[in-house]
Amino acid sequence: WPNKLAPLAAHGLTAVYDGFTALDGVDLTVPPGRITAVVGPNGAGKSTLFHCLAGTLRPASGRITLGGRDITRSPAHARTRLGVARTFQQLAVFPSLTITENVRVGSEQGRLRHPEAAEQALRLLSLHDGATRHHPAADLPTGTLRRVELARALAGRPHTLLLDEPAAGLDTAEVAALARVLRALAADGMALLVVEHDIDLVANLADTVHVMAAGRIVTSGPPTEVLQRAAP
Ligand code: ADP
Ligand code: MG
Repeated sequence: WPNKLAPLAAHGLTAVYDGFTALDGVDLTVPPGRITAVVGPNGAGKSTLFHCLAGTLRPASGRITLGGRDITRSPAHARTRLGVARTFQQLAVFPSLTITENVRVGSEQGRLRHPEAAEQALRLLSLHDGATRHHPAADLPTGTLRRVELARALAGRPHTLLLDEPAAGLDTAEVAALARVLRALAADGMALLVVEHDIDLVANLADTVHVMAAGRIVTSGPPTEVLQRAAP
């Protein structure tokens, strides 16, 4: 996962909905080879930050850079091409396509069109056996759909991966399997940002945690320090 374009970073990012400031001067870097987590209660602004970084929400002020280059005004699809992939909380697969076909779409939309990329992603997410790969994406259980989503994002060979609540709807075994995949990606040099409600997952997974409240980052550091300090 070459990442000459990384890191993705936010500088003084502010976002406003109808006069309500949901994000208030956030600074954040998503370094390569690390898992960076953003946690905080409902309404803290986690998803708003995610949408600004992914390019689906225009910030009111502040800047977003990729390897120092200003991408604040780049649309979402351009960021995908630059190597910033994301998954969708409302899972966005094409129901009439098979799992393999859905993952190939990700390869076409991504940074690099490597012929092996879709196959590697299918294998990494254990979607490669004959029965699974030709299964229509309609009517898949949540855990499988989330793996298809992740494989689709990885098939574009991103250097940076943004995940909003990746553990939502997964059982304990599925969360453990997801954590193994995400750790392997970071070990290979990918930059990961995980926006997550589930503190237990973050405690086990993240190298750095940013705790958000009311649109601001209130504390940052390794999970052992930050999550203790944030506890009631
Ligand atoms: P989180 O993901 O941490 O739960 P969000 O970023 O979704 O928080 O929301 C932050 C704040 O912005 C909340 O108060 C929420 O009600 C508000 N908000 C989010 N989306 C919208 C929207 N589309 N219009 C108006 N307010 C919104
Ligand atoms: Mg959210």
